[in-house]
Amino acid sequence: MRFLFDEMLKRTASWCRIFGLDVEFLSGKTDSELLDYAKTNKLVFVTRDVELATRCRKRGVDVVFVANDDREEQIAQIIKESGAELTFPENTRCPDCNGMLVVVDGANVKDDVPEKVAERETRFWRCVACKKVYWEGGHWKNITRVHGKVKELLARMQAP
Ligand SMILES: [Zn+2]
Repeated sequence: MRFLFDEMLKRTASWCRIFGLDVEFLSGKTDSELLDYAKTNKLVFVTRDVELATRCRKRGVDVVFVANDDREEQIAQIIKESGAELTFPENTRCPDCNGMLVVVDGANVKDDVPEKVAERETRFWRCVACKKVYWEGGHWKNITRVHGKVKELLARMQAP
């Protein structure tokens, strides 16, 4: 399952990639171009635009209309309505480009990260597409917090 997010959901798109969703993001396109792209590539269109959501349904494009402003609520809703699976941290994607992240040894990233980071951190990932290197660092706490909240929301949604 692959997704196309509209421009109003850029930040949410990055978060969903971290949590393993395959998310495409195109900027500077018209609504019609986005719709065609989703249709041709069989993508689930995720939008905050209610009119665009209606157009998607009319053209037979799978769509998730996101009304909520809360980031965690948005992510949980997208996962629930699309039927995607939350596989984080087994699968995680590059928030910048959607490439898969693979675990790499510290020795292999020495030239790509600040010296202090190389000394301090033990776990690294590299994006197979843009080659950017990630490490747990300070963001990790925030990511695990958001992940926990999303899981909690999903559990609540599934409760009878
Ligand atoms: Zn990347």
